[in-house]
Amino acid sequence: MADPFKITGPTCISFSGGRTSAYMLRRLLMAYGGELPADCHVVFANTGKEDEATLRFVRDCEELWRVPIVWVEYRPGRAWVRVDFTTASRKGEPFEALIRERNYLPNPVARFCTVELKILRIADYMHSLGHDEFDVLVGLRADEFRRLARLRADPSGGTRGIERRAPLADLGVTRRDVAEFWRHNDWDLALPNMDGTTMHGNCDLCFLKPAAQVASLIAERPERAVWWARMEHSITNPKITNGGTFRSDRPTYAQMLAFTQAQADAFGHAADGAEDGIACFCGD
Ligand code: SF4
Repeated sequence: MADPFKITGPTCISFSGGRTSAYMLRRLLMAYGGELPADCHVVFANTGKEDEATLRFVRDCEELWRVPIVWVEYRPGRAWVRVDFTTASRKGEPFEALIRERNYLPNPVARFCTVELKILRIADYMHSLGHDEFDVLVGLRADEFRRLARLRADPSGGTRGIERRAPLADLGVTRRDVAEFWRHNDWDLALPNMDGTTMHGNCDLCFLKPAAQVASLIAERPERAVWWARMEHSITNPKITNGGTFRSDRPTYAQMLAFTQAQADAFGHAADGAEDGIACFCGD
C-alpha cells in the first residue's frame, strides 16, 4: 500500500477541531519532520455553533504545534471570509445567514449545512490559491464504517476537482489509538471524551446527533437549545407547511427544551437511548 500520508500535489487537511483530525494533523507533521510540505494547507471551517473549547483547541494546535491553520467562514451569497480565533463567529452567525438565504432548514436528507458551511468553504480557500484540483485529507478512522463507506463510494463528495482521502483509516487507526494519543499528550481538547466520542463536538446540538445526546446536552445547558429553537420558529417559507424543523421524526428543539427542563434525563432514555448519530462530513 502506498504511504497514506504521502503528499504529491496541492492538499487540504480538513480540520474539524476534533481529536481525530488533530491526531491526523499530528501524524502528518511527524511524517514530515514538523513542517508540512509546500501547498499543503490546514483549513478549519467555523459554523459559529462550535463550543468555545473547540475554538481554543484549534488555536492550541496552531500555536503549540507551530502549524498555520486557516480559519474560514461562510458568508451570504455563497461567499466566504477568513477569520481567526479572535474574530471567529460564536453565535451561529454563518449558519443563521445560510438558513436565512435558503429560507428552510437543513435536515438528515438535505444536509446542506455541512456542504455550504464546510466542504465548499474549504474548497473556496483552495480555489483562492489557484488550485482547481486538490486532495482533501479527512480525519476518519478505520472504525467509522458508515462515514468511510460514504467517502470511498464518492471520493469527490460531489465537488469537482476534489479527491478526499482518509489516511488514518487506511492505516487502520481506531478510536482507541486516538484516545491513547490524547491520554499521553500534555494538553487536550477540553470537552469530555466518552469512550472515544466527543458528544459536545461540532455544532453543539447538531440535528444528526442522537436525540438522547441532544437532550442530555440541553439538560446540561438549556441555553444551548435557544438558537436551534429560534431557527425552527423563524422559517417563513410558505412551501413548508410545518413551519420548518430540523427533524420531522423528533420533537422540536423548543419541545425538547421544555421536556428536559421538566424531567431532565427521562426524555433521553425514553426517546431512543440506542439511536446512533447520522454520519456526515463534519466529523471529529
Ligand atoms: S455539525 Fe451538524 S449542524 Fe453543524 S454543519 Fe455539520 S451537519 Fe450541519
